[in-house]
Amino acid sequence: MLRRDSDHHQLTLLSDLAVPLEGQPSRVRRIYCNRNLRLDQIQFVGFDMDYTLAIYRQAEMDRLSIEATARKLVDKGYPESLLTMSYRAHFPIRGLLVDKKLGHVLKTDRYRYVKKAFHGTRELTSDERRQMYMQKRVRPDPRRFHSIDSLFALSEVTVYSAVVDALDRPFAQLDYAQVWGDVRTCIDEAHRDGTLKKIITADIARYIERDDQLGPTLHKLRSSGKRLFLLTNSETYYTDAVMSYLLAGGLPEYPSWKSYFDVIVTSAQKPAFFMRDAPFSEVVQNGQTHVHKVREIQRGHIYEGGSLSEFEKLTGVSGDRVLYVGDHIYGDVLRAKKESAWRTLMIIQELTDELVAMERLTVEIARVDKLAQRLSALHDGLHERQASLKLLQRVLDDDGTGAERRVELEAARLRVKRGIERIRAQVKVVEAEHGALEATVESAFHPFWGSALKAESELSSFGEQVERYACLYTDRVTNLFSYTATHYFRGPRHRMAHE
Ligand SMILES: [Mg+2]
Repeated sequence: MLRRDSDHHQLTLLSDLAVPLEGQPSRVRRIYCNRNLRLDQIQFVGFDMDYTLAIYRQAEMDRLSIEATARKLVDKGYPESLLTMSYRAHFPIRGLLVDKKLGHVLKTDRYRYVKKAFHGTRELTSDERRQMYMQKRVRPDPRRFHSIDSLFALSEVTVYSAVVDALDRPFAQLDYAQVWGDVRTCIDEAHRDGTLKKIITADIARYIERDDQLGPTLHKLRSSGKRLFLLTNSETYYTDAVMSYLLAGGLPEYPSWKSYFDVIVTSAQKPAFFMRDAPFSEVVQNGQTHVHKVREIQRGHIYEGGSLSEFEKLTGVSGDRVLYVGDHIYGDVLRAKKESAWRTLMIIQELTDELVAMERLTVEIARVDKLAQRLSALHDGLHERQASLKLLQRVLDDDGTGAERRVELEAARLRVKRGIERIRAQVKVVEAEHGALEATVESAFHPFWGSALKAESELSSFGEQVERYACLYTDRVTNLFSYTATHYFRGPRHRMAHE
């Protein structure tokens, strides 16, 4: 009988997570390391703004984006009912793939096999899944698949799946790619025409959390001799509004948010920033952009555009001395890693929930592992007996086998056969418990998709990207506060199967 979490365990769970172990910060406050990094070797620490320094309140942001998108879809001729229907904003997670051709949303594992699939918000059965994806790896061809890389993009999936649900008709083929294209156009428009940003800046506290530790964290890094920079895709006016909200009225040494940074770059157009060769433009006092080739970077000034090569030329810093902190796997982390020697710290807000679920289900997760081992042992036994059965049958079928020997062999065959039946019955029992328990564990991570970082016992494709491209990862910037400027982050020692 499986031991259930006691009430006591439930109650102490959050406080357990907050207790530091052996001088380390608590698990939720910790920075996790994939590749060794010595903080004392880092001279420059750079930050993305949206979803990195500025942590958005996801539910409010989802509501805002969903409303704006639905409104624009209706203006395009979609049914008015989109304005009043209910949306399941908690449906999507980061790392999913949208199959534009079939109207599906997929979760793939590290090898790109489809592990879970929904049509609209209806989960496909494993037969349907197998039929459609043929147990082949998904080639992430952008003409067919769109990858959901940021928390901001979650609302696109919410709207898409809801519209697919609402417009699907039994005998009429809906153009799913067209619907996806329209959702994307509408959300992009809401961004470009300032619909969203106007609403956010009018009531920032409603949409963005303010973390009082942010100022002290940046100050601590600066006091240890590191230089800081801000590198964001947001426009100057919006950056100014958000950063003022995050850092104003903090430490007296910093009269403005700009005083925390040695270099400020807005409208950077990452990931293009990492790949192109482009000069910075300077934003002059009255908010006008003064386009001239910037020859020297000055503190307190705001620059737009630019490129990695220009940044390194003007600051004179070599790439491996830079630690860049961002939330976007493609725009911040993957490109920085591929195009430069920048080290990366990825902000994964989902990590807190994952850690809490992991802690709460320690017993169940261990049991799932044990059952999986038991299943493979049973399967091995089954295969062995099936091979013996075949062999016995072959000898029995041979006309040359004598009658006495035949009686003996027949008895052996019967014994093996019964053995097989016994193991089959055990497999059934273990499989049932394993399946049920795995479903419990998965739904504790997320009711529709399970863990964002794992796919059953494998890494999810998102988890694999995090492991491959992020040197470090954590759930918020202010977790840096708990570490000294000389901290040596050590990655896990990798083991191969034979070790
Ligand atoms: Mg961002």
